[in-house]
Amino acid sequence: MKLLITGGSGLLGSKIAEVATDRGYEVYSGYNSHEPKFGEPVKLDLMNPKDVVDAIRKIRPDAIVHSAALTDVDRCEIERELAYRINVEGTKTISKVARVLGSFLAYISTDYVFDGERGMYKEVDEPNPINYYGYTKFLGEEYCRDFCIARTCVIYGAKPASGKVNFALWLIDKLKRGEEVKIITDQFITPTLNTNLAEMVLECVERKLRGIFHLAGATRVSRLGFARKVAEFFGLDENLIRPIEMNDIDWIAKRPRDSSLNTSKARRLLKNKPYDLRKALKVLKDEVS
Ligand code: NDP
Repeated sequence: MKLLITGGSGLLGSKIAEVATDRGYEVYSGYNSHEPKFGEPVKLDLMNPKDVVDAIRKIRPDAIVHSAALTDVDRCEIERELAYRINVEGTKTISKVARVLGSFLAYISTDYVFDGERGMYKEVDEPNPINYYGYTKFLGEEYCRDFCIARTCVIYGAKPASGKVNFALWLIDKLKRGEEVKIITDQFITPTLNTNLAEMVLECVERKLRGIFHLAGATRVSRLGFARKVAEFFGLDENLIRPIEMNDIDWIAKRPRDSSLNTSKARRLLKNKPYDLRKALKVLKDEVS
């Protein structure tokens, strides 16, 4: 299969490119400013739709995973026009070219389409984004209704990507240095290991599954609970973790209080099941060492 991944330099895209390369796919890794490690690199700046369309027309992929986005939630809140162009217009461009070429599309969306008032959201629940990032990702979904929309939550993995470390790597590094960290007690998530997510997304692509799927970790946990489990698994000092509350943080954009995703549909329909936290951290530990 000829697979194009937008955001192939990112935390999720790089793992999808790695797994797909291992499976023998012909992989094209779209990027903007960070050269991808896996697949054939393809410069794709979503701010330049014409170049994006030309590049994709040349490749003629069987399938596209659209993982690229402006993911900095606070930046999206301030630089709204930029967020709109990348996350909404960019997704419109990708979905249009996918339709024209007859390529299957999987659009990676987010738990932030929900307001976080209830948690454990199912695919049928009504989105109600409370920040601009979530709003742009939700608008992006509108262009992908006839394809696969894969919503996920707090991705982590063994390697830095796109010039950034993820929450788990940041925490492990801080605790290893003996530094104190402040972690939120009253925000709930279903953290997702990028390896597990990559396998689930690839299965959706291989089976051409259409509709919305919540592809996330199977365990709902607070940020603090997640941090404590990471510390426990990596044999690090949990006493360095200081509990704080969401109100203690001066975020620019509002965050949902409980954006955990219910993954029962994925558990029921996919061969690659969402990992519970224990399994995911075991795999993470193997990957890190
Ligand atoms: P990253 O922030 O790690 O990577 C973002 C990717 O988007 C990079 O490859 C980046 O390219 C690319 N990108 C950014 N701007 C542009 C642009 N103008 N043109 C082309 N590409 C661009 O993202 P993640 O892997 O963490 O996220 C993947 C997807 O999952 C996103 O769609 C995100 O909304 C969604 N998601 C992420 C969550 C998380 O916790 N991380 C949670 C829920 C959903 P480069 O680095 O080369 O500039």
